[in-house]
This record gives sequence, structure tokens and C-alpha cells, in this order.
Amino acid sequence: MNNNWNLDDIVTLKDFDSLMATTKIQIAQFDDYFAKMNPQMSDSDFVAFTKHHEVCLEGIHRLGSRPALMEAADQKDSLANKLKNQVKDLEIYFGEKIQPISLWLKGKEVAGKTILDDTNAQRLFAANPDLEYVYNYSRLMGRYSLDEKSENIITAKDSNGTQIITDLRDMIETEFEFDFNPKGGKRQKITNNAEISSYAYSADPAEREAAFKARFEQYEKNIDKFFVAYQAIVKDWGYETKTRGFDSAISMRNTANHIDDQTISTLVDVCSKNVGVFQSYFKFKAKQLGKPQLTRFDLYAPIGEANTSYSYIDAIELVDAAFRSFSPTFADNAKTIIAQNHIDSHPADTKRGGAFCMTVAPSVTPYVLLNFAGKMRDVSTLAHELGHGVHSIYANGHGISAQHATLPLAETASTFGEMILFEKILSETKDSETKKQLLSDKMADSYATICRQNFIVKFEIQAHAALQKGIEQKDLSQMWLDNLKEQLGDSVEVDDMFRYEWSYIPHIIHTPFYCYSYNFGELLSMALYAKYKAEGESFVSSIENILRAGGSEDPKKVLESVGIDMSSAEFWQGSFELLANWQKELEAL
Ligand SMILES: [Zn+2]
Repeated sequence: MNNNWNLDDIVTLKDFDSLMATTKIQIAQFDDYFAKMNPQMSDSDFVAFTKHHEVCLEGIHRLGSRPALMEAADQKDSLANKLKNQVKDLEIYFGEKIQPISLWLKGKEVAGKTILDDTNAQRLFAANPDLEYVYNYSRLMGRYSLDEKSENIITAKDSNGTQIITDLRDMIETEFEFDFNPKGGKRQKITNNAEISSYAYSADPAEREAAFKARFEQYEKNIDKFFVAYQAIVKDWGYETKTRGFDSAISMRNTANHIDDQTISTLVDVCSKNVGVFQSYFKFKAKQLGKPQLTRFDLYAPIGEANTSYSYIDAIELVDAAFRSFSPTFADNAKTIIAQNHIDSHPADTKRGGAFCMTVAPSVTPYVLLNFAGKMRDVSTLAHELGHGVHSIYANGHGISAQHATLPLAETASTFGEMILFEKILSETKDSETKKQLLSDKMADSYATICRQNFIVKFEIQAHAALQKGIEQKDLSQMWLDNLKEQLGDSVEVDDMFRYEWSYIPHIIHTPFYCYSYNFGELLSMALYAKYKAEGESFVSSIENILRAGGSEDPKKVLESVGIDMSSAEFWQGSFELLANWQKELEAL
């Protein structure tokens, strides 16, 4: 069975133009709403505006996601490209019309208007309880925004300045030709970064080592250019942070993510203290591979030969059974996505790689793109992406602005779904070799999403502080090497060439401090899962309440309502207990 999704539920191609036209008229009506806005305006006038705003957003989301999904399924689809460009113009128009309104709502000075004071803002926002948190949060963010002219200058500076720096950096990178020369193997030129990276998972140690060598050779050659680019981004980030009034470099990211600084610093501390569990795993892995000590080249080496494969139908049944063991509603929500043909399941020539779930609007069942190839990892991905979709369906009672969970909670259902699936498969696997592979892959993946990401952020915190004061490339590279040695300890021998590794991590340059989103989301869901395992059935409704909240509440409050304090170290520690148990199970095999 091979699923191709049906995108007509978003908007049919026949109706596309008329939806464009209607949305455009609706956007133009913002002028009338804006004219009526003043601090004393009535609650009902404000609610009417919020409703109209939601209608416009829905139109824009439908119009934007139709071509985006068409293009994802076929990157050469020229119609998708044409539609996408039309929508872009509409989005710009929307941005122009909404900007004065949103500045006014944030309490900023806008020509011809009396400033909206806090008391009236609170009164108005409370008039639409569903969107109250969204508006309050945006006003809070407004505290860090500058006047209109300065904001325009920053936007222009980003697109003509920092954006160009990152583009140039990426251009250097895409031109790389990797000289892949494994001992005893065939020498070849590889031009694709994804292809060279894939050899890190090779069963052949010579291939793994050759892949890293080929890669570092290129990055080392260009390291000074990468340093200059990174330095510029960091300095710019620091300047903007100060200008906007944030306390620290990472604070700007945290605030945008709806997380307070204290929580992130606790997270980084707890992760850093728990490196031991991954170090034990690497020591175990060395034994499995018959080596006295693992090298950095071997981190993602497979142990044994994975030969289990799954048909798509089996994968769906497996995921359904796992979800159902947790909650029938959770499973039914996933079934809705499948039954409505909202999945594009298999790889195709011009289809994009990877997997994602897209939420269009509360009234549209979410869409899932996969590149299912029958491996265990593909089944996990199915559970993960369906989890995202399930989350959106739980939260579809909210308006479009409040449906999507805020970042701290965005990975809850997806990771949770993966977790239930993993433990189900593990408990049903009788063959100890297969069990060993499953657990080993899980530990390797957890290292990559939890420990590694945490140390990337730790490096960024240090690097941002040091680069502001002024350091050289060799100091920054040494900083990275020390950081790597700290996380791997005596469990892994780290070759000196890894000092240049920082230069190929795209996130630190494209979206500084973004990487903690991975360990944050993963650990939060794992901690919730650990709680579910400990408390059983009675915790199911707590999880479902978290999912139903979507993005309509402060994530901290959502968690508090089910008895969780995300700023406490003990809460985060729960996830590491789970990891330690897997590691124990692995060693016992
Ligand atoms: Zn995800």
C-alpha cells in the first residue's frame, strides 16, 4: 500500500483563486477595524477584530500550505512554485496591514492613536479567553521590540547583512568536494553533504573514519572563513540582544520560546551532570565492537546486522496498537489522519526527503509526509509524525493562533508516541540480538538528541561570551574540542581533527541557541513518560489535558496544572532514570 495525500481538504485548485480574492478583501478590512481601535473600545469590538483576524489567518494558512505541500511531494511541481509566489505577495500585504495594529496592541506608539495602556489591554485581551495568553504573550514580547523605524532597519539589516553572511557561508559549504578514501576501499569524490554524513553509520570502520577525514579536510581548509562568518553572527546577535534589553544572549531565544532563563540553565546543568549514562553506553559499545576504547568515528556504528523490516501496513498496525494501549482517543486521532488520506507515505524521485507533520488550521486534519522505507527507524518516524498530528487534533478546539503548542510542549505527543511504540516493540521482541540492536540504536539516538545538543548549547553560551570580548579561531576551536572531551570523558578517544567540528553545525549560525529545543522536547516528553509509567492509567488524562491545551496557555502553567515544575532539576532527572534503565537492560543482554 502506498499513500498519496489528498490536498483538496485544504483548498481545491479550482477554488484557489477565489480564496485568494476573498482573503485579500478580508485583509483590506483591517483598515476599518483599526479605525475603531482606541483604549476605551468595547470588548465586543475587540472580539470582532480577533475573530476577523483568525479568519484571515485561516485563509492565508490554507493558501500557503497547499503549494508548500504540493512542492514537498514533488519539488519540480511548477504550479506549486507559481502559487507559492502568489501567496507570498498576499502575505506581504497581510504583514503591512497588520503591523500597525499589532504594534498598537503591544502598547507601542502609532501615529494618530492613543497608546494602549496595560489596564485596558488586559481588559480587552480577557474578552476572548481562548486567545488571551497569545495576546498577552505578544504584548510581553513587545517590551523587547523597538519603534517602527528601528524595527524596519533591523529587518533590512538582517536581509541585506547577516542573511548574506550565512548565505555566503552556505555557498562555500555546498561547493565542497569530499575526497572519500577508505582504507582498502574505493576512492571517490562525493559532493553531497548528506551522503558523506551517512557513512558515519557505516558498519565498516574504515568508511566511518574516511568520511570524517574527507569532511574535516574541507572544513579545515575554510576554517578562517567560517570563523569570520560565525564571529559576525555572534556579534550581531549580541548587539541586538543589548539593544532590545535582554539580560543575556540566550535570553533572547528563551523569551521567544516561552521559557524562562532559570529553566534552561537547570536543563543544561542536569544534562551535563548525566553524561555518565552515555559514557557507559559508549564503553559497552566498544566491547561489542571488540575494541579497547571507542573512537569518535565509531559513535554511530551499528552493532550487529539489523535485519528486521516492516511493511507499511504492519507499521500502521503496530503504531495503532501502541497508541491504543495508551489511550483510545490518541489512537483514534491518528486513525483520522490515515482514514482521510492525509499521509504521503513513500519515497519518490522528486519528493523531498525526511518527514514532517503540518497543521493547517483547526478545521483541517493535519498532514504527514514520510519517506517510509521499512526500517525500524521509519516506524518510529511514523509514530513521531502521527504524534504531532494527534496533538493538533487534541487542540483543535482552539482558534488558529492558539492551536499549535508552544515550543516547550511542541514535541510532547510526538516523542511520547515514539516512546510507547519503542517500549511495546522492545517488550515483544524475544530474540536477544534484535533487542540489543534496538536498545543500542535508541541509546545512540538519545545521545545525539539529548547529550550532543546540550553540549552544543553549552558551547554557544561560552562562545558568545568569548567572541564578544574577542578571541581567535584557534581559541574557539580549542573550546569546542574541550567541550567534546568533557561530554565523552574517557569513554571515547577524540581525534584532534574534531576541533573544527563546530564549523559544520548549521544551527549555531542560522538560529543561535536553537539546539536546546531538541533536548528540551525529548527530555520533557521522556520525563512525562516516566511519570506515566510510574503512575499508570491515572496519568493518562493529565497528558491528554496537556495536549488539549495546545498553545492557549503558558506552558509553565499547563505543566503546573498536572503537578509538574519544569524549573526543577528532579523533574528532568526522571528522563535520565529511564535512559539508565535502558542502558542496564542493554548491558544485561
Ligand atoms: Zn517532532
